[in-house]
Formats: sequence, C-alpha cells, structure tokens
Amino acid sequence: MNDASYNRLKAKYVGLLGSKCKKCGAEFFPQARVCRKCGSFELQDIPMPPTGKVTSYTILNVPALEFKDDAPLVIGYIELSNGVRLIAQLADISPSEVREGMPVRMEVRPLSQKSGAGDPMVGYKFVKSEK
Ligand SMILES: [Zn+2]
Repeated sequence: MNDASYNRLKAKYVGLLGSKCKKCGAEFFPQARVCRKCGSFELQDIPMPPTGKVTSYTILNVPALEFKDDAPLVIGYIELSNGVRLIAQLADISPSEVREGMPVRMEVRPLSQKSGAGDPMVGYKFVKSEK
C-alpha cells in the first residue's frame, strides 16, 4: 500500500469504524446494515471516537489457550464518548487498578504475546487515558 492509499484508508485501518443512521442519527459499533433503532437501511460509515470510559469490567483468569500466557486479562465494557458501548481488552491496566468510570483510549496492539506461524494478529485494546 502506498502512502496516498494509506492516508486515504487510515481511518479504516487504525480506528474503529462504525455506522450512523442517516434517518435517526443512531450510531453503532461494529458496523450495522440495518438501524437497530428505526429499521432504516440508510446507514453511513463513520469513525468511532477513540476515547471513552470503563462502565463495567471483569477479570478473566482462565482465558482461551491462545491467551493463557497473558492471564489474567482485564476485559472492559466501554462507553465511547458518543455513547456507543463495546467490549474490549484493557491493556497495561492491572486487575487491582481497573475502576468503573476510568477514562480510556483505543490503541492498536498485538492481540496475544504468543508468537505463532503467519503474520502477527493485531487488534484494538483500550489503555488508561488522562481524561
Ligand atoms: Zn435509525
């Protein structure tokens, strides 16, 4: 991918891409084909804000085998600043320091520390944010 293509497509590859209903304005992540609020099929892609707060969380002490070396995993239920909620792993946050209401921001991170065959798998996680 050349630089021009990267810059044009950056939002799709380094951010969270969701949907917004053109009829009622409801926003969704992940992307939706049908508005879950009004039933409209007229949705457009929009980038989700990269910041939000932890509304709830759980500690995963026995994750799937692929992630066992990373245990315990801190999994957050996050409300983005536009009100859309999603579940994601919290990175660099220990089980003893995670709190409801903690401000967080999205980062692209490796999904597992374990190296395997093929390209490394990356995805989004959330880290502590100052505000
Ligand atoms: Zn709608």
